[in-house]
Amino acid sequence: MSQIPEQVRAQIRIQANHQCGYCRSLQKYVLGILEIEHIIPRAAGGTDDEENLWLACRLCNAYKGIQTHARDPVTNRKVKLFNPRQQKWSRHFSLGQTTALKLQV
Ligand SMILES: [Zn+2]
Repeated sequence: MSQIPEQVRAQIRIQANHQCGYCRSLQKYVLGILEIEHIIPRAAGGTDDEENLWLACRLCNAYKGIQTHARDPVTNRKVKLFNPRQQKWSRHFSLGQTTALKLQV
């Protein structure tokens, strides 16, 4: 069970603009509450420190799970997953005609 203080949780919600860091869904349009997630999962050595925490919707958080890397479908290279604290969403993803979301490496 997480021991993240409510004050830190509230601060992260503000920093994330009440928006999922991965799909950008806004809290006001998501059923259920956006979750505080570990950018580097605890299972992979991540901490409860604020700089390792961000906001995610249940679908993104569940899909990401304990992953820290993924295979780029275009280059087939193993790449780090998007870090919403260190990377700009608009430089990492784009909307495409054939897929809803394209990864930019
Ligand atoms: Zn999401």
